[in-house]
Amino acid sequence: MSADTVSSQHVGVVGAGTMGAGIATSCLASGLRVTLIDSQATALAAGQHRIAEALDGAVRRGKLAAETAAAARARLIGARDFSALGDADVVIEAVYENLALKQDIFRALDAACRAHTLLATNTSTLDVAAIAAATGRPQDVVGMHFFSPAHIMRLVEIVRAPQTSHASVARALALSAHIGKVGVVVGNCFGFVGNRMLYAYGRENQLMLLEGVAPQRIDAVLEGFGMAMGPNAVGDLAGLDVGYRVRRERKDLPDDPRYYRVADLLVEHGRLGQKSGLGTYRYANGSRQREVDPEVEPLIRAEAARLNVAPRTHSDDEILKRCLYALINEGAAILGERIAASPSDIDVIWCNGYGFPRERGGPMAYADSLGLASVYDGIRRLAAEHGARYWSVAPLLAQLSVENSTFAAWQITSKT
Ligand code: NAD
Repeated sequence: MSADTVSSQHVGVVGAGTMGAGIATSCLASGLRVTLIDSQATALAAGQHRIAEALDGAVRRGKLAAETAAAARARLIGARDFSALGDADVVIEAVYENLALKQDIFRALDAACRAHTLLATNTSTLDVAAIAAATGRPQDVVGMHFFSPAHIMRLVEIVRAPQTSHASVARALALSAHIGKVGVVVGNCFGFVGNRMLYAYGRENQLMLLEGVAPQRIDAVLEGFGMAMGPNAVGDLAGLDVGYRVRRERKDLPDDPRYYRVADLLVEHGRLGQKSGLGTYRYANGSRQREVDPEVEPLIRAEAARLNVAPRTHSDDEILKRCLYALINEGAAILGERIAASPSDIDVIWCNGYGFPRERGGPMAYADSLGLASVYDGIRRLAAEHGARYWSVAPLLAQLSVENSTFAAWQITSKT
């Protein structure tokens, strides 16, 4: 499909919530026709309102001409059912994160859409193959994992399930490019590339909180390294309840009472992040400005005592290494499993979706700059201190370290 055909496409967006409205805004702003569907009339109206506001905001910031925004608004149609999607070229689903619901939606889309409509899901954690299996056309089903806020964030992970056709992947890439996003093709596993690595990185943050490091110190160390936001500030921004709900659904969590325990504890205390004014930090009325909340540390300390985790002191270097080596090691595991096609794909994902400092290249380029032998030795030291459960060196990292090689060199040779 050429860029020309993308420019005249009719895009259906199912679910007018946070993500659906952002995705629709991006499509409209780049000239596409959009039909926005929500089963709830109030949610549909709210979504349409958010889209109008986002387009107005783009005009105010000088990103969009007033006439372009007016034309974009005129290309938006709201609807309550899928009969409006009969001539859609692409449908992007963004309803609640629930497999049975998404399967119902895809079954209905299969019946309502013409042959060859690209059917995309914005799921962040669910199995795209299981969603595709609800249709009679799994070759036309792909993941398009946008990031929040979807009209601003540039990254889209394009998830290729086992039966997704090359043509569907190419169409998803062309659409992403047309709407000004960076599309990166990834394999189908829990968390895909970005969030799977985030889980490893966040795990160390969470364990160090239990070991007595203050959240603001961990954030300061990682922000000092160059991350746009530290992991605790990010958790509050995304909503701690999102991960909480995902963990309740997962069947493959480690048998470890410390695992993401602080995040779960905060949610159990009604601290959901910015949305509730209280999370790891506190936020004054409607503000996004984080403030240290003196109530949080005693809460964590009591939980650590209950779990027999003794407080200890940590150097800034340890804080940094535990988070970043966990990230790099998971990236290497993902490469070994061919979930990501190349180290540079991982770097693009982390620089565009997770605020990794561009000047350091991305986590895999950063690992190369440290020297993989030094990362390997660092992980072995962490394994000796904290046990092998989370610190077994990914086979590809071990191999490249022994060969005195780099991810960049492997990227070239692994393609030949
Ligand atoms: P949301 O709760 O803001 O919106 C979901 C919308 O879907 C609601 O308006 C609801 O009325 C609508 N809906 C529910 N059932 C429907 C049905 N049968 N037909 C039509 N509409 C229906 O959710 P969200 O945060 O926008 O998340 C949507 C999806 O995007 C989820 O799969 C989520 O995992 C994923 N995602 C979210 C984020 C994020 O940061 N919020 C980031 C990436 C991906």
